[in-house]
Amino acid sequence: MASHNLARLKIGGLEIIGYSVAGEETVVAVPQLDVCFDVGKAPDQIISINNVLLTHGHMDHAAGIAYYLSQRNFCGQSAGTILAPKNLLGPIREILDGWVRLDGNQIPANLVGVKAGDEYQIKPNLFARVFPTKHTKGSVGYTVIEKRKKLKAKYSKLTGPQIVELKKQGIEIDNPLEIPIVTYLGDTQYVDFSQLEYIVNCKILIAECTFYEGEHTTRAQAGKHMHIDEFAGLLDKLNNEHIIITHATLRTPMRDIRKILKDSLPPEKYDKVILFMDNRPWHGRGGQTLPTFIT
Ligand SMILES: [Zn+2]
Ligand SMILES: [Zn+2]
Repeated sequence: MASHNLARLKIGGLEIIGYSVAGEETVVAVPQLDVCFDVGKAPDQIISINNVLLTHGHMDHAAGIAYYLSQRNFCGQSAGTILAPKNLLGPIREILDGWVRLDGNQIPANLVGVKAGDEYQIKPNLFARVFPTKHTKGSVGYTVIEKRKKLKAKYSKLTGPQIVELKKQGIEIDNPLEIPIVTYLGDTQYVDFSQLEYIVNCKILIAECTFYEGEHTTRAQAGKHMHIDEFAGLLDKLNNEHIIITHATLRTPMRDIRKILKDSLPPEKYDKVILFMDNRPWHGRGGQTLPTFIT
């Protein structure tokens, strides 16, 4: 039996599994892309994923680092890769060293320090691009981007042999093409992410929206989180096909959050929203679980 009861949903062939409640635990994995955004308490279901993309060091997002790495070793898997803001690598190493002393076994790890603007290759055509967020010192978000090549329009009518000939002559026949697949904001206060084109047009946006009630705006500011009023303004400027909301507070009952979402978002945005908490993901459209959900 798995350690966690995770939310599971499927969007266009991509499965997204995880759990996210503010202050408790956040872990969101996309197994087909081989990435897990934040690691929460390291549920069993994410241990075999090779890349953890950590946004910041808060306990509810990072507690499972050592367990994730150690379990992979225990199960005979290769060392896990953890991308983390550069300034966190020192403390992460200290924690791992502490566990080695406590546990007596080595913990193989591939720790990669990142900063805004970096790109990390996950698979031959798949990259994690790092962008800045406003939450803690060095905090970041990630967009997973597929890179392809597209034949330049002026060569589209050429035959195969003609194309081979051009290549032999060293002529660049392709244009680079980037397809942003999934963006994960992690914890952040409002930032105008519409300035980053790959976020604006990313197919799936996984965003925090922690607070919903009017009197919670000061809480949002103090904790450097987003309030629905800010989030609605942000969504206005983005073109994502699917919007997955994470990190909702338990201070507001679920049914109230749903109602506030409906009142705050225009219908075309509200229809794209999925609230991602536990094993009961909920979709804006009609408030019903859609058949695309696995459970
Ligand atoms: Zn958090
Ligand atoms: Zn946080």
